[in-house]
Amino acid sequence: MGLLSEGSPLNWEETKKLSDHVRKHGIIQFINLYKRLRDREGDVLKWGDEVEYILVKFNDSEKTAKVSLRAEKYLSQLQEKEHNDPSNVKSLWRPEYGAYMIEGTPGKPYGGLLAHFNVVEANMQYRRQEATKLLEPGEVLMSLTNFPRLGADDFTDPPAFPAPYFGPSRSLFFPNEAIFSGHPRFKTLTRNIRSRRGEKVAINLPIYKDKNIKLPFKEDLATLGDDGTSEKAAKENHVYMDAMGFGMGCCCLQLTFQACNIEEARTLYDQLTPLCPIMLALTAASPFYRGYITDVDCRWNVISCSVDCRTAEERGLEPLKENKFHINKSRYDSIDSYLSEQGDRYNDVPLIYDENIFKQLLDNGIDRLLSQHIAHLFIRDTVSLFSEKVQQNDLEDTDHFENIQSTNWQTMRFKPPPSNSSIGWRVEFRPCEVQITDFENAAIVCFVVLLTRVILSYKLNLLIPISKVDENMARAQKKDAVKLEKFWFKRDITCNTQQGDIKDEFTEYSIDEIVNGKEGTFPGLIPLVNSYLSSMDADADTHCTIQRYIKLIQRRASGELLTTASWLRQEVTKHPEYRRDSIISQKINYDLLKKIHDIETNKVSCPELLGPCTISKTSETVPVAMTKAENCSIPH
Ligand code: ADP
Ligand code: MG
Ligand code: MG
Ligand code: MG
Ligand code: MG
Repeated sequence: MGLLSEGSPLNWEETKKLSDHVRKHGIIQFINLYKRLRDREGDVLKWGDEVEYILVKFNDSEKTAKVSLRAEKYLSQLQEKEHNDPSNVKSLWRPEYGAYMIEGTPGKPYGGLLAHFNVVEANMQYRRQEATKLLEPGEVLMSLTNFPRLGADDFTDPPAFPAPYFGPSRSLFFPNEAIFSGHPRFKTLTRNIRSRRGEKVAINLPIYKDKNIKLPFKEDLATLGDDGTSEKAAKENHVYMDAMGFGMGCCCLQLTFQACNIEEARTLYDQLTPLCPIMLALTAASPFYRGYITDVDCRWNVISCSVDCRTAEERGLEPLKENKFHINKSRYDSIDSYLSEQGDRYNDVPLIYDENIFKQLLDNGIDRLLSQHIAHLFIRDTVSLFSEKVQQNDLEDTDHFENIQSTNWQTMRFKPPPSNSSIGWRVEFRPCEVQITDFENAAIVCFVVLLTRVILSYKLNLLIPISKVDENMARAQKKDAVKLEKFWFKRDITCNTQQGDIKDEFTEYSIDEIVNGKEGTFPGLIPLVNSYLSSMDADADTHCTIQRYIKLIQRRASGELLTTASWLRQEVTKHPEYRRDSIISQKINYDLLKKIHDIETNKVSCPELLGPCTISKTSETVPVAMTKAENCSIPH
């Protein structure tokens, strides 16, 4: 969504007073939108990726790598083309949470031709080059899920210092200057989430206990200016973090798909849900936080805690007085309910929602499943409101709805068509961590898009109880989950009959078995994708590109290739200056990021991460002849 609303942010007291106003009008706006658009039909498959990047500044004489806080300057340059000629750009650029981050998407969504798979990587390369051209000497754009020393001593360029007693974060580690300030949204969210919670956010990740770490591991926070609150929140033998920036300052890879109608959007939303933890484990890329090696491989729980605005009452630590509900998850978390009729029987987690809102939605002709989904999203207060946007025309505007919707950051998002646009019902797939190279990111994107086609064409059913998906989310983030963990998955994804005991419908598989198949037991996602592809007639280059992507996914899943997280661990622990103390020093960080940059620019090869063949046949555009003649247009 990029620039959601612009204007003057209200302070927390003002925002809080208007929270019922936003909810009330947000629901009315949704009802109006739904009535207008529920019967919308015939939209075609369109889809697009979002890649988030970090700006890194190398200093080769001092051997340091720091985040460069200059995203705003580059963003305004990058957006100039779009402002002048919005329908003719090959890329779109948006601000992100960090003052060192930017987000890039293709200029237009892709469509239903197989040949589009051959354009994805070239477009990612184009974006990277387009931004890279603007940078200062020593600056590099990197698609890294987390900057390893984010929040460690001296990690920004220019230098900035944490401010425990003023500004939005009040962090002992994360300076306010590291928050993007070209748009008020990010600092406003930071301040309001902290204010609503009544204290700083708290993130504790188990530290990796290497041989020379002094146990118990406990930092002296008082020397950093702690008044005792952090001391209380920090857990022993954990890496403690205390700011929204530690989570929202991470980068990810997202995908959005347009469905032909609302029903198909519900189906996709549901069917992709069990794949979220699987893809999270496969794309795991963030074992390092605040300059330490941790015992987790993914960012997910870090972001979840980093925007956890629930009060102590809502978290169940105190009896309810001021607040209405006990809420079991942060507003950033995995989804809590399926939306399709087929999904209903797998909704086994009690949903929390306001009965009055639920009833109002039902009374307006919205079915129970969608009503409970919306009512559940609307248990949250707005945490970012702009004075210009308070009064709205509920028949046309959807800002209040979007306000709550877009601050429920979940694994999947059900996106209604925006008002006054030609865009249809869409779903967004949000779990993936971003990879180092465009090749890997393109592979993941194309794999997930192909899965959606396979699911729809073969009418697969991947649904398992929501509680099991939640269990899988926890497993996915564990160190080396691809190799070591098993995941709940549907026994027979080709079976659509719904009878018998749900417990018999799923069992535990390794990622290898889920992706590559298990002889006589489970067909495997890739064999299904291949069978789907064999019924179509891709041109030679596209075929070759897709097969390279599929090979990468297969090898990551089988453990033949390392996940990004495992590879990162390996690089740090074998560094000559690593002292087996779980610390990533400036020099180790510098060498690691240099090597990542060399891999990304093809200066060095990295077969343990990428496999033998990464030569690209990807092209910048789909040839015109092909857009007309291609007979392998993806059935829809
Ligand atoms: P958000 O940040 O809210 O998820 P963005 O605008 O950053 O949204 O990204 C949306 C993604 O959806 C982009 O990849 C874009 O190419 C893609 N997209 C744009 N229009 C459509 C459409 N009609 N159907 C599907 N995807 C679309
Ligand atoms: Mg976006
Ligand atoms: Mg983003
Ligand atoms: Mg983000
Ligand atoms: Mg998005």
